[in-house]
Amino acid sequence: MKKGRLDKEKIKKVIKNCVIFHNIINMKEFIWKNEKYIPNGKIEEINFQEVIDAESRLERFAPYINKVFCETNESNGIIESRLININKMKVFMENYYNEIVIGDIYCKCDNELPISGSIKARGGIYEVLKYAEYLAIKDNLINVQDDYSKLDSEEFKKFYSGYNIIVASTGNLGLSIGIISSKLGFKVDVHMSYDAKGWKKELLKGLGVNVIEHEGDYSKAIEIARKQANLSKNSYFIDDENSKDLFLGYAVAALRLEKQLKYKNIIIDERHPLLVYLPCGVGGAPGGITFGLKSVFGENVHCFLVEPTHAPAMILGLMTGQHENISVKKYGIDGKTDADGLAVGKPSGFVGKLLEKSIAGGYTLEDKELYKLLAIANNEEHLQLEPSAAASFIGPLKLSKENYIKKDIVPTHIVWATGGAMVPQDIWKKYYEKGLDLLKKDEII
Ligand SMILES: *Cc1c(COP(=O)(O)O)cnc(C)c1O
Repeated sequence: MKKGRLDKEKIKKVIKNCVIFHNIINMKEFIWKNEKYIPNGKIEEINFQEVIDAESRLERFAPYINKVFCETNESNGIIESRLININKMKVFMENYYNEIVIGDIYCKCDNELPISGSIKARGGIYEVLKYAEYLAIKDNLINVQDDYSKLDSEEFKKFYSGYNIIVASTGNLGLSIGIISSKLGFKVDVHMSYDAKGWKKELLKGLGVNVIEHEGDYSKAIEIARKQANLSKNSYFIDDENSKDLFLGYAVAALRLEKQLKYKNIIIDERHPLLVYLPCGVGGAPGGITFGLKSVFGENVHCFLVEPTHAPAMILGLMTGQHENISVKKYGIDGKTDADGLAVGKPSGFVGKLLEKSIAGGYTLEDKELYKLLAIANNEEHLQLEPSAAASFIGPLKLSKENYIKKDIVPTHIVWATGGAMVPQDIWKKYYEKGLDLLKKDEII
């Protein structure tokens, strides 16, 4: 009897996985529950102290950041974003998608992060600052007790101009690295994949950044950039697919979020877990944040990855256990999406292997849904998002539909808005109008 039931469960599981896989390769939306997930699992490979060290380093740099980027004056040189309640948008979505969500929805507004208007202002800027500090300490130009605002000088700019920073990007990482590196005085090469938006390239060129445009996708751009870095002297390659420093910079967000939740008297415990929805490209940003949050909240936080139906690289890597050895193209998935921040065909093996058992699950979304959510977020909450960032907002409804949330549990949902504030108004307007049109069409049907 028992054996029979077990087999039935097994068969159900196999069928479910087949359906998900069928949807993945046909570029249809799907929801994925990670079977390997261990909610209270420990991640041994990285010591949380390293995240705390990263936070201290950012504090050392705060006087410099405060001096050279006036948009950070309000926060004294700390690059941080608001956490806001978006229950007004929640009510709209509940009506529109005909689905009730238990628990409040908050938005982490990294779309408004100072300096580069996206989540990359965490990891990207952190890694450049760490390298800048390393070089200056090595040459006895500063020590950790100094006021780092002295880095804003001709002497330091001349010093850093002897070094070359190289990075590949679908857009936003290039923006972050390019802006901070050129401010410090570094020479910067940004290799852009074909998805990268024109305005991002133009903005960087205006700052004197050397922008190299590629015909190929992101994985190709990284490959070429890595080769260039290997060949040149005094160059430093920021490796989006493997960088621990990027990862640690992103992870600092967890310490900041912990304070924001406390400040708002939001309790996180067994009966009130935190559910976090993170748009995912190569995996560094959502991975770092997941690592940080798991270290802070343990089994009471559950993180979900969000990807476009045309580029589900990380989920595919986690599902198959193949990580960096898979590419969506191998499965006939074209990788083409308007969510340029998520247009990645090959996931980070470093992040995938590290968090294999720490990611709760994920889902994919069609591009047209991104535009609708982008419009709703502006109508209801006055947010300016780019398409990639809108992907997280539907997360709470997706999980509710799947009956993921058990009875008597009242979670707090956090949708991570990963980018948008720097999108030029005319371009953003077009996104918004596209979203509005799609919403109107739905109502007629
Ligand atoms: C880069 C990016 C992400 C995802 O970060 P990864 O480290 O590539 O996974 C999400 N949203 C936006 C807007 C981004 O630019």
